[in-house]
Amino acid sequence: MRVIFFGPQGSGKGTQAKIVSQKLGLAHLSIGDILRNYRGDLKKDIENCMNSGNLVSDELVIEVLKERLKEEDCKKGFILDGFPRNIVQAKELDKITKIDRAIEIKISDEESIKRILSRVSCPKCNAVYNLEKNAPKKENTCDLCGSELKKRSDDNVESIRKRLSIYHSETEPLLKKYKSIRINGEQPIEKVTRDILEYLSK
Ligand code: AMP
Repeated sequence: MRVIFFGPQGSGKGTQAKIVSQKLGLAHLSIGDILRNYRGDLKKDIENCMNSGNLVSDELVIEVLKERLKEEDCKKGFILDGFPRNIVQAKELDKITKIDRAIEIKISDEESIKRILSRVSCPKCNAVYNLEKNAPKKENTCDLCGSELKKRSDDNVESIRKRLSIYHSETEPLLKKYKSIRINGEQPIEKVTRDILEYLSK
């Protein structure tokens, strides 16, 4: 099964993509994580784009995605987390593969900003924590791998507002291109997972 997860910043789509991909044996393709771990010549340009809340160039993300899709684990299906974000990317995706379903995890802008400002993540294993609702057991330390947790450099108010505005104008309208559903992302994590699994089992 090939699924796209849409959702504004902080909606929990990365967290859900991780849980659901493990449960269903699908590959989890987080474009944000792939870009953060990019080690090629364009590293500085990518970092500047991400830190200001802008999208990285379509050519580059499409190239990166095409490479990732060639890997063995994608053969059994995947969850795309963070792609496509605009119509150019969506049209390109149509040429590369067929998508079965899409899910939007919906939260308000107010909730998004609140969540992002209290988000920290692990630079090593990409685990994400919310300091209010899902704090690590030991302060500033990843529960999973023991690395020091960091705030993402693009998680500041100015960048979040920019990313939300791009999300509403360019990404959200793509949902109607696919067989899709909207799920309330302001429910407990386990309930959101149940809603997603129920939809994917139909
Ligand atoms: P995320 O981790 O999904 O919040 O993505 C963080 C940042 O990565 C975004 O603000 C963009 O700068 C960049 N990015 C992620 N996915 C894409 C994409 N599909 N197209 C362009 N830029 C992207």
